[in-house]
Amino acid sequence: TFITFEGPEGAGKTSVLRAIVERLAPLLDDQLVLTREPGGKGSPVAEAIRDLVLDPNLPSMDAWTEALLYAASRRQHLVDTVLPALAEDKVVISDRYLDSSIAYQGGGRNLGVDAITTINRFATNGVMPTATVYLDIRPEVGLRRIQEHRQDEVNRLDVEALSFHQRVADAYHQLAEQSPERFLIINAEQDLATVISDTWTALMPILGI
Ligand code: C5P
Ligand code: MG
Repeated sequence: TFITFEGPEGAGKTSVLRAIVERLAPLLDDQLVLTREPGGKGSPVAEAIRDLVLDPNLPSMDAWTEALLYAASRRQHLVDTVLPALAEDKVVISDRYLDSSIAYQGGGRNLGVDAITTINRFATNGVMPTATVYLDIRPEVGLRRIQEHRQDEVNRLDVEALSFHQRVADAYHQLAEQSPERFLIINAEQDLATVISDTWTALMPILGI
């Protein structure tokens, strides 16, 4: 079972994921593999590409180069970590996967959802998540949360206009509409405890718990 977590800025993805894993770990034991993109647990090549793509000293990276590096990192992580775990019938939970590229590079950076989908279908050989938790929040609400709670992220986020984050959210919604059977849409504007319990309730049947 392959579960991915997706969402825009300030949705609480990190906090929700941490809480879900805390509840899940004792139930699944060594059957649970938690990883994240770009890069990923157990994949040094993917991690090296992550360092490259997130390097603040390389500010002039072309948007297509960036999109290809995300896809390359994803491919390596899939081969090193995700596919071997799935072959052993483990539960893999990934903090971001290809929907992030479609939303951020395709939507946010305006490279086009279709082109980024094509690149990522090539990179992943069509391996799709069993289910995707989408933490749904309006961009202005998410950004306000970050401004209130996470000063360290404010400068980085200020680089992108609200319109960038609106395009990210629009692309995510388009994906969710196209694949309603895969997307578990969680209202992430609620308080954290409710978001966590809604996520848990949505995931239980998929995990057979
Ligand atoms: O998951 P996390 O919030 O740590 O992601 C950090 C940032 O990486 C995102 O907010 C986004 O700006 C960027 N990102 C991206 N394209 C991806 C994945 C992440 O631009 N495919
Ligand atoms: Mg985050």
